[in-house]
Amino acid sequence: MAGPGGSYLKRRLLRLQIGYLLSEGPGNSKDVPIQLPQRVQVDCDLYLESLTGFLVLTRTKEGILIQGTLKVSHARECDRCLEAFDHRFELNIAELFASPPDANISAFNVDSNGEIDLAPLLREEVLIEESYRTVCRDGCRGLSAITGINLNHEQEAQVAAVPSLDGGTTIDPRLAVLKQLLK
Ligand SMILES: [Zn+2]
Repeated sequence: MAGPGGSYLKRRLLRLQIGYLLSEGPGNSKDVPIQLPQRVQVDCDLYLESLTGFLVLTRTKEGILIQGTLKVSHARECDRCLEAFDHRFELNIAELFASPPDANISAFNVDSNGEIDLAPLLREEVLIEESYRTVCRDGCRGLSAITGINLNHEQEAQVAAVPSLDGGTTIDPRLAVLKQLLK
């Protein structure tokens, strides 16, 4: 589903050259729009369908502070009905990229080429966001406990929920076997 099928933008695009900002003094900042409206690779096993938003990069004494909100679209499976859907959410980013690298200050740093790589940060943020149970739509009906079919598909839902107002003579043929066993 989220595999490398089809074309996608290379994760190289998630690297930002910020050497110019490092050479400026603390307090200087730069607005950086992120416009990746197509599938983009974040890691070998993580692709986003789009990534857009706006980041403000600020030079601090310890490095570069990145703040902003990114809109993410990620193809994934519904936790209730297991169908693929386009999960859209916003990530609020506030992270310091240390320069020089200092593990006591931040797990992220500006590399020796004056670049910061957003990919590891994005991967971490997306995985946290998606560790929560997520469904494809409000009121997703999930799978039938009896037949396993997706109850969101109306026709199938009708089959699975045949009313038995006449005392139980109208019954899904697949349930008739069960009824026999109960006798
Ligand atoms: Zn669902």
